[in-house]
Amino acid sequence: MCIFCKIVSGEIPNQTILENEDFLAFNDINPTRKIHVLIIPKKHYESFQETPADIMSSMSKFIQEVANKVGVDKSGYRLITNIGKDGGQEVSHLHFHLIGGEAVGKLVRDKVE
Ligand code: AMP
Repeated sequence: MCIFCKIVSGEIPNQTILENEDFLAFNDINPTRKIHVLIIPKKHYESFQETPADIMSSMSKFIQEVANKVGVDKSGYRLITNIGKDGGQEVSHLHFHLIGGEAVGKLVRDKVE
């Protein structure tokens, strides 16, 4: 079972921000900005690339609700999903990073050598 499936099952604790039948939003354990929330489907999909469009449709609505809940809907935020090796994905369970609460800076800063 992957680490995020263990979070869904309750085996690994999390700081929940918002939850419904299909999705869970919780604080990233290693936040990069004042607000850093991870948003996942409870069902396991490896990444965005394997995720059906209808799941993404309902996940979009859930992500907007998370942005409202943490109060960044007006100030703005960045939404990131890393996909696979070159995308820098470390946990192979679809997740979006919602980061904000302060200016997040340029999208791509460093070129990997
Ligand atoms: P990625 O590189 O896109 O796969 O991001 C994985 C993210 O999961 C990283 O930002 C980690 O800090 C975060 N993470 C890993 N384990 C946990 C955990 N147990 N609780 C919360 N966040 C976690």
